[in-house]
Amino acid sequence: MKVVVLGAGVVGSATAYMLAKDGYDVTVIDRCGRPGMETSFANGGLMTPSDASPWNSPGTVKRLGKMLFDSRSPLKINPVAVPSMVGWGFRFLANSTYDRHKSNMIAIIRLASLSLETLRSIRETTRIDYDQTTRGTMRVFPRGGRMSEFVQKCRDMQEWGVQFETLDQGQILEKEPCLSPVIDRYTGAVFFPNDESGDAHKFTNEMARLAAELGAEFLMNTSVLRIAKASSTQISHVVTSQGDIRADAFVLSLGSYSPLLARPLGIKLPILPVKGYSVTVALNGWRGGPTRPIMDDGYHAMMVPMGDRLRMGGRAEFARYNTRVDAKEGRRVLNDTLKILPALASHIDADAVLNWSGLRPMTPGGPPLVGPTHYTNLFLNTGHGPLGWTMACGSAKLIAEFITDGRVLNNRVDAANYAL
Ligand SMILES: Cc1cc2nc3c(=O)[nH]c(=O)nc-3n(C[C@H](O)[C@H](O)[C@H](O)COP(=O)(O)OP(=O)(O)OC[C@H]3O[C@@H](n4cnc5c(N)ncnc54)[C@H](O)[C@@H]3O)c2cc1C
Repeated sequence: MKVVVLGAGVVGSATAYMLAKDGYDVTVIDRCGRPGMETSFANGGLMTPSDASPWNSPGTVKRLGKMLFDSRSPLKINPVAVPSMVGWGFRFLANSTYDRHKSNMIAIIRLASLSLETLRSIRETTRIDYDQTTRGTMRVFPRGGRMSEFVQKCRDMQEWGVQFETLDQGQILEKEPCLSPVIDRYTGAVFFPNDESGDAHKFTNEMARLAAELGAEFLMNTSVLRIAKASSTQISHVVTSQGDIRADAFVLSLGSYSPLLARPLGIKLPILPVKGYSVTVALNGWRGGPTRPIMDDGYHAMMVPMGDRLRMGGRAEFARYNTRVDAKEGRRVLNDTLKILPALASHIDADAVLNWSGLRPMTPGGPPLVGPTHYTNLFLNTGHGPLGWTMACGSAKLIAEFITDGRVLNNRVDAANYAL
């Protein structure tokens, strides 16, 4: 049986690997020259089921108005994006009730945990390396910050398997001595021992390589122009810049661009692109930085060690499909990190700084769209928002299971909770 996967980001490439492993004849189509060149290229690299709480928690929505008018806020809305946000924004707010938020959070934890379990088993059997760390992650809280509110959220997540520990200043320094110059700023930290991190781009390419070794074909530099239907319930082929490609089944994994290809088929996907920034610096052997990812809750900053590099990131901007790298935003990301890790300043090689931006494919509730459509041979694996790397292996596994035996997501994930 031939399955065409549309998109070779981390989600599409992991899907291709899972399907190839299950014996399918897989073809992956992507417009870039290599897998993982768009949003999966330089994301934060966090593999964090602990980050499962969707952005629209009831408290966040209350703070939203204030954040939008604060020039230091990590959230921005570009006026050009406003018209496209109306329907989506309404659903975003509708998902911010206590009950909706909690059920979305549980769905994400379950999918992210399945994903981590799947990733670990792939790593064990294939020995792939993607500059991973497996020492947990740490979120540090400034004095007067919202640590107690966050710890309450962690207790809710603990019920669903997310383990955490609270740390005082001494315990923070035991784990991460690099924070000693700024330790007085912090009231404490929350440590998540099961979290991991890694380079999603390297991982994506490893998935693609392993899939190719199992026989999958990658058609790169090939744009998908249209998905063609044979009838109101059946897809016949995709029209691409290299000609028509037929298959028995199709998986849509085009990230933020999925809605554009789905809409002509009568499928309205509630996915909006939300721009984010990252900055990656080469460490050239310097060992004075963090040994695991650290998130600073006050500056909304994060620093993630990746081999001999340090990645920093953050910010969220509704700007439609604008992926222009704004040097000013990159500088803000870097400056926020320097406030936490001042020693980094003298180790930055200005010629080896990568400034990057990408579009998170966000659904209004948080969980991605993983499952069937009203076309019997078209499946969705898209809309993974700020946690696409964290959830990729799990949703790939679910889609492969679904294509194999038609089980409706096994009751493990209530991700397809949108009326399509
Ligand atoms: C700043 C930032 C930080 C992030 N940090 C994290 C993090 O720490 N942890 C985490 O889990 N997630 C993180 N994310 C989110 C994560 O990166 C995304 O959810 C994930 O990369 C989405 O993967 P994808 O495969 O769905 O999309 P993509 O990687 O965008 O892949 C889609 C693919 O489709 C192709 N494509 C699109 N349209 C067409 C077309 N018409 N024809 C052919 N090909 C097409 C593209 O070339 C692309 O390769 C972050 C995102 C950003 C922006």
